[in-house]
Amino acid sequence: MYQDKQLTCVDCGAPFTFTSGEQERFAQLGFTNEPKRCAPCRAAKKASGGGGGGGGGGGGGRREMFTAVCAQCGKPAQVPFKPRGDKPVYCSDCFGQRR
Ligand SMILES: [Zn+2]
Ligand SMILES: [Zn+2]
Repeated sequence: MYQDKQLTCVDCGAPFTFTSGEQERFAQLGFTNEPKRCAPCRAAKKASGGGGGGGGGGGGGRREMFTAVCAQCGKPAQVPFKPRGDKPVYCSDCFGQRR
């Protein structure tokens, strides 16, 4: 049995529900990863035709970036989502170190 799960969108930082029905569909499709984006962001990504997922860096294509201050080193950090102030933001260096 599946249970609804609360996840956080990596794009906008909003919480969203990964419903039991979606989990079942994911499992049937053989996906082992949880969705990273809320429905609006997924739709927006699809609409923008942005391809590619996974891998790190490179890749052209314009993407709106926001500037925030890294919570660890205090340097400016470019993030692909709008910082909302309720979550720490890290620059790519610090983010890499934390993984
Ligand atoms: Zn989102
Ligand atoms: Zn940093």
